[in-house]
Amino acid sequence: MGSIITPHCSNCKFPFKQMMVGGGMIDFIESVKIPFSCYDCGTLKVQNIYLPSNKCSKCKKEMMMFGKEVENMNSYEYRDRVFDWGMGSFGEEGYVLMNENYLCPKCKEMSLKFEPTGMWD
Ligand SMILES: [Zn+2]
Ligand SMILES: [Zn+2]
Repeated sequence: MGSIITPHCSNCKFPFKQMMVGGGMIDFIESVKIPFSCYDCGTLKVQNIYLPSNKCSKCKKEMMMFGKEVENMNSYEYRDRVFDWGMGSFGEEGYVLMNENYLCPKCKEMSLKFEPTGMWD
């Protein structure tokens, strides 16, 4: 189960592909795919948040994660979000991807947003 999001940069308008984020039913180990970016080669892709390291498959640099892990997803400051995923046992800890501008891996401007475009399961 998860969401489909589309990265969109208002500056360079690079045609990013849709990304499937969230966890899959086929995964028996914990797997939550979220967007990561390599700012060295401009790659934007989904990776499992639980992996200890997220190296870029092209240039082997450490990739940066979009969004953040928070202690209380229900907090007002995280209300305007594109995607979230509960990770704690008590339902409040989790990951949130906010509806805000992120650094674009292509043009390096703070003009990248993620738009929710669908669901998958
Ligand atoms: Zn851009
Ligand atoms: Zn790279």
